[in-house]
Amino acid sequence: MSKEYKKDWYQKNKARLNGKQNLFHEGFKERNGIHYATLHNWIRKNIERTHFCPICFEFHDKTEFANISQEYKKDVKDYIELCRPCHRDFDSVIKLNSVV
Ligand SMILES: [Zn+2]
Repeated sequence: MSKEYKKDWYQKNKARLNGKQNLFHEGFKERNGIHYATLHNWIRKNIERTHFCPICFEFHDKTEFANISQEYKKDVKDYIELCRPCHRDFDSVIKLNSVV
């Protein structure tokens, strides 16, 4: 998404955002060309939440999807449902591995 497009979109949707500018920025974070808003929508639609974390082996109200390959593929097998603390650990382990 180009800067111009974002500006355009923002102008058009400013009224609708209704002071939720932070959401706008959060929702359209882009890193390595990945559109996180699109990706999160895809995850929500395609991966069923079990609320079970396979690392601590417990059920949680809030779970998150961690990416395994760090390539953020649109592939169900590339994500694992974890609780928040395990997700953090998982990500730091993955980052360490990718440095080595
Ligand atoms: Zn956990």
